[in-house]
Amino acid sequence: MPERGAEQTDVLVVGAGPVGLTLAIDLGRRGVRCTLVEQKPAPEFLPKMERCNARTMEIFRRMGLAARIRAAGLPADVPMDVFVILAMNEPPLLRLPYPSVSEARAQIAACNDGSMPLEPYQLISQYTLEPLLKAEAEALPSVAVRYGWTFESLSQDADAAVASLREADGAPREIRARYIVGCDGGGSAVRKQLGIPLRGEGNLLRLHQALYHCPSLFDRIPIGDGPGRGRHYHVADGQATFLIMQDSTRHWTLHAVVERPEDMAAQFERTVGVPVDYQMLYVGAWKQNLLLADRYGAGRVFLAGDSAHLVIPTGGLGMNTGVGDAIDLSWKLHATLRGWGGPSLLPSYEVERRQVGDRNVGASRYASLGRRKWRGQYRPDIRDATAEGQATRDALAATANVEQRKTNEMIGAELGYRYVGSPIVVDEPGGPEHLFREYMPTTWPGARLPHVWLDDRTALHDRIGDGYTLLRLGRTKTDTSCLERAMRETGAPFGVLTIDDRAPRDVYGYDLIMVRPDLHVVWRGQKAPDDPQALAAMVTGQCP
Ligand SMILES: Cc1cc2nc3c(=O)[nH]c(=O)nc-3n(C[C@H](O)[C@H](O)[C@H](O)COP(=O)(O)OP(=O)(O)OC[C@H]3O[C@@H](n4cnc5c(N)ncnc54)[C@H](O)[C@@H]3O)c2cc1C
Repeated sequence: MPERGAEQTDVLVVGAGPVGLTLAIDLGRRGVRCTLVEQKPAPEFLPKMERCNARTMEIFRRMGLAARIRAAGLPADVPMDVFVILAMNEPPLLRLPYPSVSEARAQIAACNDGSMPLEPYQLISQYTLEPLLKAEAEALPSVAVRYGWTFESLSQDADAAVASLREADGAPREIRARYIVGCDGGGSAVRKQLGIPLRGEGNLLRLHQALYHCPSLFDRIPIGDGPGRGRHYHVADGQATFLIMQDSTRHWTLHAVVERPEDMAAQFERTVGVPVDYQMLYVGAWKQNLLLADRYGAGRVFLAGDSAHLVIPTGGLGMNTGVGDAIDLSWKLHATLRGWGGPSLLPSYEVERRQVGDRNVGASRYASLGRRKWRGQYRPDIRDATAEGQATRDALAATANVEQRKTNEMIGAELGYRYVGSPIVVDEPGGPEHLFREYMPTTWPGARLPHVWLDDRTALHDRIGDGYTLLRLGRTKTDTSCLERAMRETGAPFGVLTIDDRAPRDVYGYDLIMVRPDLHVVWRGQKAPDDPQALAAMVTGQCP
């Protein structure tokens, strides 16, 4: 078939999973010309992730998407509890209560010590999120969205990267771009083209996953005395069985170690425990991996999302980590293409995000070992009405009460990541320890600026624009005009925000804080920096 005309773009994004879509939308919002290619003809109704964590929802809020995502996802008043059960029609062995989105919102509204995110998490199934993001991307004038296009290979030189692709009808296509980003998932062809290996632990466990349409289950969950509503139901069995409510509350997914795909019907019926009408819409196999790419790119080509890191879904750090990658890379590509981003800006992507990928692979391992530990308490007598059976149930529930929490209480991994050793963040030696389970608000350079409410009950985050922002707090009288001039001379978008309210100064501990477009702190001080030009050059990547 003859080759159709070659296309030119600034950024080619390969793969329209949640990470590629987020990247394309953020680039588009910034006015960057980009093309998003996806091998599938359209988004598929297949189960995968279902929880955007709090940090991802903060990011979607900045992108103007949070309200739409919540409207499409699980209603705000549905409980997010997690259960360990024998079956749904028996009293639970353990119930871990977690706030619904409405309850979490009330907690966030009542707290102003910086320890909470601005947005609560949101349960939304990947098959709901992807079409929503696709529509957003398609509405942006600078984004071209091409489904049915498969990336095959690439070459690059000093000026551009050229991708060879194939359209759905087999026609070859070429796209010439200033940059390519591989958001093409765990089997990434982009990563393979670059010869970058994934390292770690692969194929840890092979499970089947099935998707069911079961409209009556949510209204009559037969657990204990109450409705027993929650998001996850872990079955205390020898097959790692795990039932997940999806965003409509009418669809459910079940994961289990079974021999044959058709066994997933009986497994669902056993888990529910009472007769329900249902349809099994899909069954597939998937494998657990804990893998990290050696590099996050080469030359003009970058990797983001599952193409760079694969975690066990325990802890929900897969897509959420990838959204963090996309948002780190997006403004750096924009800055470089606009000419104010210096030579250290794009290389800082790997420095910053690979350490997060590494830590989140570790967090996922920690959570999955916890899961394995309580599951290790399973004995075949667990259902027996004997003293031994009761002892097995008690031991498993007691262990799960400690170990299962490792999966569901990851606020430190979600909010507390700090970019250490970044060439575009002023180095303050030391810094708080990275903890998976706890989040301690900090403005240590490299950290995400903690969320604080202002006196008028608006959020400080919402007052910060898309460029660099110098926060002047605590009614400081310090003259920062030299720093402001130096920042403006870099050509970077820059603004000054003076906030007299006490809360931010109390939480942040500094009179002056400078944040970059993704709300990470690049510098802080009680007085203006000694060498503002050097600081401005560093944070915009202009120090080689
Ligand atoms: C059961 C399960 C539950 C999960 N739950 C959660 C959760 O609650 N929270 C969470 O954060 N994560 C979760 N995850 C992980 C999450 O699904 C992934 O991390 C996420 O999908 C990664 O997004 P991505 O965009 O990087 O890659 P993908 O979603 O894999 O998307 C890659 C896209 O690239 C396309 N593509 C591939 N090759 C090419 C090519 N050559 N040319 C063009 N297009 C190509 C693919 O078709 C695909 O659409 C879960 C995963 C599983 C399996």
